[in-house]
Amino acid sequence: MIIVAATKNRHKIEEIAAITSPLGMEIISREDAGVPEFTIEEDGDTFEENSEKKARAIMEACGKMTIADDSGLMVDALGGAPGVYSARYAGEDGNDKKNNVKLLAVLSDVPAEQRTAKFVSVITVVYPDGNKLMARGECRGHIVGEERGANGFGYDPLFVPEGFDKTFAQLTAEEKNKISHRANALRQLETLLKEKMNEPE
Ligand code: IMP
Repeated sequence: MIIVAATKNRHKIEEIAAITSPLGMEIISREDAGVPEFTIEEDGDTFEENSEKKARAIMEACGKMTIADDSGLMVDALGGAPGVYSARYAGEDGNDKKNNVKLLAVLSDVPAEQRTAKFVSVITVVYPDGNKLMARGECRGHIVGEERGANGFGYDPLFVPEGFDKTFAQLTAEEKNKISHRANALRQLETLLKEKMNEPE
């Protein structure tokens, strides 16, 4: 089964492929699916809206089954921010480094026990007939006081998942892929995909 990945984020594609390939699904890039370059405005208020919008736009451009992840970090002491704005927390021309610097600055007066947070991932699969499957995964943890580790991407150097004493960036990809928000969403999606495959035509 071939599924087109709506995201261009190489890390996300690798994480999705690591989990979907054992299920017999091959993830291909937008480029390999012949989708011309265009920008999808992520202007929804929820991960669900943005995830579906991305999957639907790419499916309509190539006519093939498409998978999209919309994800982000929600910090309890910030009322759930940066949330859907996670990628552009430090501004439209920001980057992972600037986002992390901003988050540390904003949380500088917040004591360790109040620095709880969660990563959220909503994954949508849209079929060529317009039908969709949607799954949501979360991973709870806390935000440390300085960047630690060099693996992963985004806020990984600042996030210690519950039950661990290392940040996502200090864990191996294999370790992160067992417990991450994306892994949890993909596990739920796996169940939905299997149910769908077993549905009578
Ligand atoms: P999206 O590509 O619009 O879904 O934005 C996702 C943003 O959330 C990324 O740019 C990261 O800043 C953050 N994010 C999502 N998942 C992760 C993760 O697994 N590790 C670190 N940061 C993440």
